[in-house]
Parts: sequence; C-alpha cells; structure tokens
Amino acid sequence: MPELPEVEIVVRRLNRALEGAVVESALAPGMVTMKTFDPPVDALAGRTFTGARRRGKYPIVEFGDLTLLIHLMSAGRLRVFDKRASLKDKASRVLIRLGDGRELRLREFGTKQRAWAKLLPAEAVAEDEMVASLGPEAWPPPPLDEFAAAVDKPRHLHPLLRHQKDIAGIGRSWVDEILWEARLSPFKKGSELDPEEVERLHAALHVLGDAIDYYETTIGPEVPDKAPMPLRVHKREGEPCPRCGTTIEAVFFSEHQTNYCPQEQTGGRVLKDRRLSKLLK
Ligand SMILES: [Zn+2]
Repeated sequence: MPELPEVEIVVRRLNRALEGAVVESALAPGMVTMKTFDPPVDALAGRTFTGARRRGKYPIVEFGDLTLLIHLMSAGRLRVFDKRASLKDKASRVLIRLGDGRELRLREFGTKQRAWAKLLPAEAVAEDEMVASLGPEAWPPPPLDEFAAAVDKPRHLHPLLRHQKDIAGIGRSWVDEILWEARLSPFKKGSELDPEEVERLHAALHVLGDAIDYYETTIGPEVPDKAPMPLRVHKREGEPCPRCGTTIEAVFFSEHQTNYCPQEQTGGRVLKDRRLSKLLK
C-alpha cells in the first residue's frame, strides 16, 4: 500500500502535471468506487484542477470548490496518462478526462474493488468522517509532546504506529524502518516507552522525509506504479543489518510481516515466528 512518502510524491507530481488542466468529463467505471453520489462525479466537467495534496496516506485532488478524496487501499494507484483508458480496462475506477486528451486515472490492480473516492464540497473535506478521525501527520513530525500523547497507548508499537487514528501516514513498510531507526522493538508497548525512547521514536520519523527526498531525486515526471522504496530492513530477513551487521529477522503474520535487527531492537532476542509456531501447533 502506498504510504505517506509514496502518496506525497504522487501529489507533488500531479501538481506539476495538471497545472491549469480543465476537466472535459468524468466517470466512475468502478461500480462501488464512488462513496458519494451528490454531486455526481461528472459535476467535475468544465472545472479546472486547482491542486493536489494529501492527508496521511490519502490523496486529495481539488477542482475549485469540489474535491476528490481518495482512499487507495492496498492496490489503488493515481496517475496521469497521455491517452484515455479503453472502457474495457478492468483496472479503471475513476476516469477524469482532460480537455487536452490526457486522463487522470484512479486504477486498482487485482480483482477486488476496495479503493474508494468521495466527491465533496471543498469545505466538507475536513469534516469527512475518515479525515476527521485521523491523528497528527507523521511527516512533517508533530511537536514532541503531541507525538508523545499519540503513542502513549498500551499497544505494541508495530500496530500502534500504523493506526491512522493515532498517527497518520505510516503503513507496513515504513513502520519497520522507523522502529529500526529508533532501535525499538516492534513488540514494545507505546505506553511502556520512557521519555528518551519517545524522543528517539519521534526523531526517527525523519526516515519518511528522507524517503520523500529520495523520490524527488530518483522519480521523474511520472511516478511508477511500484515506487522504488529505499527500504533498509523491511522484507530484508536474512540480510545483514546495514548498521551493525547482525542478520535481520522477521515475524510473519497472516497478511504482513515485521522485520527487525535483534541486536539493536530486541536485546539480542529472536522473536517467535508466529507463522511457524502456528504451523507447528
Ligand atoms: Zn543492527
């Protein structure tokens, strides 16, 4: 799933590509994609693109007083194409056709339709139930005291940092990088952090900013569907830790995994692989 740095580079590139673009027509071939019906998506026709931004992991595309709020879920992608999609293209979810022949397209890979969009009056975006429920942005980082309050929860750091209502923008890839940078165990509880550990975790959020900087220098006008993520520990089990050389370990869950350096994050302990222990039961 695109996380904060990947969505940030997408909206930055949209701002470059779509400046002054006028919508000719808009439609939503994804039958369940639009979660709003009034105004209809074709109300965008004739409007000018006025800017793209994001809140957490969610792209927001503005057309004057109408705003498209998007949830990419795991397989959605937002991109400008030079030509219009064939109506047979099963990946199309929302097509915004521009007067110059190009098309802003929300696509989704795989057979499931989970990505969604809402067309809202601009002033209603902040009050949208999902947007309003989001915690502070993970990047730029919130002030230390606000961050300390956000993570002061009796839950493991790995799910806690991915919980958008506590802090917005982090997902399964970047959480591993942030915890590695902070030298903290994914299974430490937020409420068990001492003030120095909270500071370390807060400081480690810079990996998100570093990723955005990396994308700025490596990604051209079009963001590829699979961003070249500069990950150092996530999904790198078996490889040496880039800092201390200890073998990176993994804990597997049914749909995701967490990677960590046992030397620096778990006091030398290799954590139980939950997938393996399930198989052995
Ligand atoms: Zn290490």
